[in-house]
Amino acid sequence: MSGVPDAASTASSQDVLRRLTVLAGPTAVGKGTVSAFVRERYPQVWLSVSATTRPPRPGEVDGVHYRFVDDATFDAMVAAGEMLEWAVVHGRHRYGTPRGPVEQALREGRAALLEIDLQGARQVRATMPEARFVFLAPPSWDELVRRLVGRGTETEAERERRLTTAREELAAESEFDVTIVNDDVARASAALVREMGLAV
Ligand code: 5GP
Repeated sequence: MSGVPDAASTASSQDVLRRLTVLAGPTAVGKGTVSAFVRERYPQVWLSVSATTRPPRPGEVDGVHYRFVDDATFDAMVAAGEMLEWAVVHGRHRYGTPRGPVEQALREGRAALLEIDLQGARQVRATMPEARFVFLAPPSWDELVRRLVGRGTETEAERERRLTTAREELAAESEFDVTIVNDDVARASAALVREMGLAV
């Protein structure tokens, strides 16, 4: 596999890539909550820190939750081939996975997790099909609608747009190796860590 040199002499590059897990799923399913739970409770998981052009929210720490960069820096990272994948998410800001740290973690033999959107997952699938692709699903369509529109702050048009996107995203489930239902954050996170081959 290009870009990821063999790990130790004992592992082939395919084995190395099997330690990479990609977590994706529809908007509002709770990917961020699950990855935050994994970050806090399962230090044995190496979690990729994405670069993004969106501004930090209160409480978000540069280098921990995201690497917050301006447009020019993001452009330069893409031009230099430093992004494993990247995408415009929700039609607004750009998000991408810096390649170097992922390769480094895999070379060190760590189980690595990327929490990214569907477009990004498809890009990784194209270049690293040996990785494990996990789909985080809502307990039901009705529950996803509740999570999507629950705040009641969106206009009718915005609600419709989100629901259309969610329907399309749910239809992608069959592209993934395994589905985990996010009915409970602790349970879903433990299931994810087990999928990564780690004891919980
Ligand atoms: P938020 O702005 O709420 O933190 O994240 C918005 C969306 O961006 C989420 O769906 C999240 O999965 C996605 N995202 C975060 N980091 C990356 C990344 O590096 N690449 C891609 N393609 N999507 C990402």
